[in-house]
Amino acid sequence: MSRMEQLENRMKHRQLSHAYLVVGENRRNLADTLAAAWVCTGETPPCGQCSGCRKAAQGIHPDITRWDPDGEGLKAEAVRTLRSDAFIRPNEAPKKVYILEHGELLNQTGQNILLKLIEEGPAYACFLFLSPNPELLLPTVRSRCETIRAEGEETAAASADGETLAGLILKGAGPEETLPFLISLEKKDREEIALLLEETVCRLTKVLPQRPELLKVLDRLSPIRAACEFNISAGHLAGWLASAL
Ligand SMILES: [Zn+2]
Repeated sequence: MSRMEQLENRMKHRQLSHAYLVVGENRRNLADTLAAAWVCTGETPPCGQCSGCRKAAQGIHPDITRWDPDGEGLKAEAVRTLRSDAFIRPNEAPKKVYILEHGELLNQTGQNILLKLIEEGPAYACFLFLSPNPELLLPTVRSRCETIRAEGEETAAASADGETLAGLILKGAGPEETLPFLISLEKKDREEIALLLEETVCRLTKVLPQRPELLKVLDRLSPIRAACEFNISAGHLAGWLASAL
């Protein structure tokens, strides 16, 4: 089961943790889904049908608070207001949800207030930290949250391509099969090719104990993966891959 399937299962069975750190391009969408799951009163959260889900989708649910990253939102005073609010019972939902963007921009005092709230706050209070730079959050805050990576479509596509390439390598496909695939990579950008290669390497490494001969392929892939960091065209990378396989 993938991590995303596990998460969906936990939503369905109302077994979510109460604090998540959501990272990745698609973090806002995933946060909205989690928030809806918490306020959902239907049978399989988020059902999308109940009044909780509908209000969540319209952004008008009284038990979902979005914390604005601009101006006021970043001051420790605003965190204290948030803390007082968290101790007031939910209006209508089983949970009260706080979606906090850019928590990493808060000073240490602010982050420590949040940390205490996550640790000692009421059981109905749930927190979603959304951050493009999660490494800037205090380690203590990070450690109290479960981290979930919400990949965007591009990342998902790159992983699927990586799976294809690993599949071609594993079955020892000839150039008539690999070339059309490699040519299609010329339309990608370097970052996508880097992700694709990461996925390929990861899949090949897993079967290395049974297929030790793959070590040679991995050795040839590694300088190409490294070259993705530099200003090198996708066409060139695809050509290089073709000669390495
Ligand atoms: Zn619902």
